[in-house]
Order: sequence, then C-alpha cells, then structure tokens
Amino acid sequence: MKATSGNLRLDQEYDLVTVHYGMIACQNCGHPLRNIAEVVGSDDGKHYFIGLDCASTLTGIKADKVAQAKKMMARMAKHRKEVSKGYYGYVKVVGEWARFYKNDTVPANRWVFQSKFANYQDLIEAGSQARAKWNEDPIKVEQVSSFD
Ligand SMILES: [Zn+2]
Repeated sequence: MKATSGNLRLDQEYDLVTVHYGMIACQNCGHPLRNIAEVVGSDDGKHYFIGLDCASTLTGIKADKVAQAKKMMARMAKHRKEVSKGYYGYVKVVGEWARFYKNDTVPANRWVFQSKFANYQDLIEAGSQARAKWNEDPIKVEQVSSFD
C-alpha cells in the first residue's frame, strides 16, 4: 500500500537512516510521534522525520528495514526504562554519541549500550532520583574527546 496523501514527495525513493526518540509531529502526516524514523530522499537529499507507519508506505524502504527499525525502537524503549530507573551510573559522551555503564566506576569496555545521547538526555534526572532512593550517586555524565 503506497501513501496517496502526505507531505513527502512520492516522485523519489527514500532510505531509512536511523531512529530517534523525542516528541515531534510526523513531517509526512502530522501525527504526534515519540518513535521517529529518519529517512532521506534519493533526489532532494533532504532528511525527514516521520513515523514508521508512514515510512513503510514510501518507495524504497523495504520491509526488512522497517522491521530492523522496529527492533531498534523496542531496544531504545527498554534502555530508556532502564536509564529512568537508575540502572546506569555513568555515561560517557563523545560528540552526540554516548555509552552507558552500569556503575560509576568505569572498567574498560564494560559499557552496556551505545546510542545518541539525545535519545536519553531527558531521563538523566529521573534516573539520578531513582538512584538516590538506593543511596547511589547520581548518574555521572562525562564529556570526553574519544571512547578510548
Ligand atoms: Zn506519519
């Protein structure tokens, strides 16, 4: 089923680049979104932020890409829950990317997951409050120049 209405051009193909978490209106249909798919047009080269339902109707975005994006969104939801509950004590940030560690002591390469920090930034305060209930230190966020 191809979209017959929506803001995105139908005379070009799209590629699904990545997924984000936030709160925007779908740039294709206007519906409010939390799980956001970033797609790029083959002709105009522009990046659009739309829902996965809309993305799956666009030419060029194959079903396996949509399935993969769904998995990434589910994994992000799980990690967001964990961050908000204070499971991670340390976050190492390099540019827009972040690695999450269980404890604020950092054994080399013991990070649990890596993601864009923007997907989790809003949860740091809640996570730190959850940790306070267990007398744990707040989540330590450290900006460094590289992950090594
Ligand atoms: Zn939409």
